[in-house]
Amino acid sequence: MYHLNCKSDEIQSHCRKLSCVFPEICENLITDHSQTTELYRKARAIPGVKRVAIASGLRYDLAVKDPEYVKELVTHHVGGYLKIAPEHTEKRTLDLMMKPEMGAFDEFKALFDKYSKEAGKEQYLIPYFIAAHPGCEDEDMLNLALWLKKNKMRVDQVQTFYPSPMSLATAMYYSERDPLHKLNYKKGKIYVPKDLAQRHLQKALLRYHDPENADFIRETLIKMKRTDLIGTGPNALVGEAMKKTPQQQRQQAFQAPKKRRSKMSAYSKSEKIIP
Ligand code: SF4
Repeated sequence: MYHLNCKSDEIQSHCRKLSCVFPEICENLITDHSQTTELYRKARAIPGVKRVAIASGLRYDLAVKDPEYVKELVTHHVGGYLKIAPEHTEKRTLDLMMKPEMGAFDEFKALFDKYSKEAGKEQYLIPYFIAAHPGCEDEDMLNLALWLKKNKMRVDQVQTFYPSPMSLATAMYYSERDPLHKLNYKKGKIYVPKDLAQRHLQKALLRYHDPENADFIRETLIKMKRTDLIGTGPNALVGEAMKKTPQQQRQQAFQAPKKRRSKMSAYSKSEKIIP
């Protein structure tokens, strides 16, 4: 957000808003990226500089306000892949994250594809999503999985939420309340996926395509009464369970306790939550 400031120091000094970009971009925020565009051009012109690459860290909801900047970025500074962070697709969770709705992502993707094509470059956006954010219900995660399926995207690396100091999300995590809205005794708690089973479920839904998760996803969809998402239909997240031969059933019964133990310990190591 180089030089993207409030248009007036006077207004800024009196402003009590929590964010300049949420719930919508403030009309007083300068969204003209021309200074960044100029900086890119100057950096490219420095003798000896062969390449200036931008791989991530882009605020795409602001970038779409300046298509010339997106063109400059896509034409000269993307090396095939650009990571961006919609974080989620569902409004309920996005609102708690103070992130823009998916319309901004669609808008940016349209510009990205257009300018990549014009530049004759085959380039891809790598969206980054997070599981188990406070307030993210299992239905939200299921909808995110369906969005991934519809958009033919498969995420490789998946992040689950961890509370970190001095963040609003951590306040939500511990209090199970939404501090972005006025709190009173009538306000209910928000859902916070804290225990390992809840976190595992949300993470698995993000990687519904992983064969390792297939049985678990199938069981989850049955519990969520979404058997319409099992099978070969266009929206199906997993196929029907393969019928096991009697020999495979005996083998599974013999191996199951050992497998469960090793999976849980591996999971505990990587997913430990600090109380
Ligand atoms: S929210 Fe708007 S008025 Fe407040 S500092 Fe940001 S740009 Fe300025």
